[in-house]
Amino acid sequence: MNQHHASGQRRRILVSGASIAGPTIAYWLDRFGFDVTVVERAAAVRGGGYPIDVRGPAVDVAQRMGILPKLQEAHIQSRRITFLHPDGSVAGAVRPEELTGGEEQRDIELPRGDLTDLLYGLTRDGAIQYRFNDSIASLVDDGAGVSVIFESGATGYYDVVVGADGIHSRTRRLVFGPEQPFSRYLGYCYNGFSMPNFPGLAYEGLAYATPGRYAILYAVRNSPTLHAFLIFASETPPFGEHQDPARQCRLTAEKFAGIGWEVPRLVDAMLHTDDLYYDVVSQIRLERWSTGRTVLVGDAAFAPSFLSGQGSSLAMIGAYILAGELASCSEPSDAFARYESLMRPYAEANQDLAGEGAAFLLPLTQGDIDARDRVLASLGSSDAGAMPGATSRVVHGALALPDYDRVPDAGR
Ligand SMILES: Cc1cc2nc3c(=O)[nH]c(=O)nc-3n(C[C@H](O)[C@H](O)[C@H](O)COP(=O)(O)OP(=O)(O)OC[C@H]3O[C@@H](n4cnc5c(N)ncnc54)[C@H](O)[C@@H]3O)c2cc1C
Repeated sequence: MNQHHASGQRRRILVSGASIAGPTIAYWLDRFGFDVTVVERAAAVRGGGYPIDVRGPAVDVAQRMGILPKLQEAHIQSRRITFLHPDGSVAGAVRPEELTGGEEQRDIELPRGDLTDLLYGLTRDGAIQYRFNDSIASLVDDGAGVSVIFESGATGYYDVVVGADGIHSRTRRLVFGPEQPFSRYLGYCYNGFSMPNFPGLAYEGLAYATPGRYAILYAVRNSPTLHAFLIFASETPPFGEHQDPARQCRLTAEKFAGIGWEVPRLVDAMLHTDDLYYDVVSQIRLERWSTGRTVLVGDAAFAPSFLSGQGSSLAMIGAYILAGELASCSEPSDAFARYESLMRPYAEANQDLAGEGAAFLLPLTQGDIDARDRVLASLGSSDAGAMPGATSRVVHGALALPDYDRVPDAGR
């Protein structure tokens, strides 16, 4: 798409969401010569948060953006994940890469807020306009452009609208309808919160499992605060409880009643936390990622769930490819088709990794726990290929990142 109209005016692109996909695509669109606005519902880019991963081609995207050295500095270098039996005894320990398929000298694990801060820092002072505390209220596509009315009452007319507003994307709802048909529930609900580092963990995680009930503790380096998760299996998603944090907490406390190890301490911390976040574990699967002049990227289009551990990388890679194709094609529809044909097989293969992650991290039955323990016991022997990371590593790398350096206006 030529970055200028016949009048010489630069083409205008609105991006909804300023987390990972949003600032990444904003960076590349700006670099390719588009006029970019990013609208974010929150008052600021949200800092803090659990550790996420930048892997495979996402490392190359970071390198092309010039932020790889800073990402490497932020790498938290987790050394070990220890699996615990229902009575709290140790079932085995693995290096994180064995579980996730990360490449030790190349991939980066960092707090989500460190990545969003870096991406925002890279894009905040240039020509990109950020509108915080605002959101798209409605959009009308007339075939030549999209008229947008914002919640604030402001209006705008854009050549393309990009929905990078996460798993519960409003942009997706506005153009494709309610979320439910696109949401694939994976059978678990999670509650995340922070709590004091009572076991003195450093550079490591603990994964406790009884059939259908799980507790995960994660220490970023030797932080005095842990990221804690209470996760339970549920055949149907508890949507009623989800409308109300207090009800969700009560339901979770009931689910974990009578469970051993340090679980009562975690439940107590959850009940008293002021930073609870919770959701069902689900993926977004859409037949098309665009309609007219509106297109989705990141979790809004292809959320893989934390069971694949690939959401952040997919968001960065998808954003890079979508921006590159918009800059390379004369029509948005051609760019969207090329973006989808390049990205969809990779995104779906990464989404499919969630099954393997679940079987190991969140075993449903005692038989699944026994199978996990047999794999843990086999580590170091010739049979050790059964760790989920062996398959994941191949899938993470299965995309050749296109090179868009030669598009007109690139690197202006
Ligand atoms: C518990 C948990 C653990 C995870 N662990 C990992 C991991 O280990 N590794 C990994 O790679 N990934 C992990 N992920 C996934 C990762 O966080 C996401 O895949 C990634 O953040 C997706 O980025 P995104 O930019 O597409 O969307 P998001 O990060 O969800 O950002 C969406 C943005 O849009 C904004 N927004 C929402 N609605 C509106 C609106 N109406 N208008 C304007 N703005 C709006 C939001 O405020 C937010 O800033 C995990 C996720 C969770 C929940």
